[in-house]
Amino acid sequence: MRVVNKVVLASLNPHKFLEFRALFAQYPQIELLSVEGLIRNAGKIDLVETHDTYVENATAKARLANKGCHFPCLADDSGLEVVALGGRPGVKTRRYAVAKAGQSQDSANIEKLLGELRGKPESERQARFVATLALCLEGISFHATGILEGTIAESPRGRNGFGYDPIFIPKGQNRTLAEMTDAEKNSISHRALALQELIAIARARDIQFARP
Ligand code: IMP
Repeated sequence: MRVVNKVVLASLNPHKFLEFRALFAQYPQIELLSVEGLIRNAGKIDLVETHDTYVENATAKARLANKGCHFPCLADDSGLEVVALGGRPGVKTRRYAVAKAGQSQDSANIEKLLGELRGKPESERQARFVATLALCLEGISFHATGILEGTIAESPRGRNGFGYDPIFIPKGQNRTLAEMTDAEKNSISHRALALQELIAIARARDIQFARP
């Protein structure tokens, strides 16, 4: 049996680090480390996100980090798929819009998406968040995917979370993800579901997330 008690998060996104730290709180035996400052080529992590699928992108990031250190490395590739847009922006969600001078990438993305959906009724604003997580240890990797269904709001609401959270209303809710507490988001999120499944897959491969 292989026991894991340290995991390196192969992401340069500080919001994702905080979300994963909260998600790993239910596994107190595991220490989550940031890739920044730990491996020499950490800056390249986002540059390997050039593939056409979440699985390939997440796996490439986890492998790159694992090559640079001796710890198990976890990577996430996520996206927003909007039904009325035929699943776009999908795997290209991060660089969906071109930000204007002084505008953040997140607000440019939200502005573009709301523009594309302007005037569309709620039935055509259905969307889903997808997160694929890949874990790479000792050169071997495996992955799991989580999905959160919902709709796109007509205007941004709330200040929590990151990315598209202010315009995403999970199914069965009235509030956007950005109007929820971190704990509320983490109890339903695509990332939380993917992590649960990833840990189950690890267990089935005789990899235990605990101290010896
Ligand atoms: P990537 O996985 O870092 O490539 O991110 C994909 C894009 O989806 C970025 O624009 C993120 O901000 C956005 N995104 C990923 N997960 C979430 C989430 O949980 N809430 C809001 N936006 C997200």
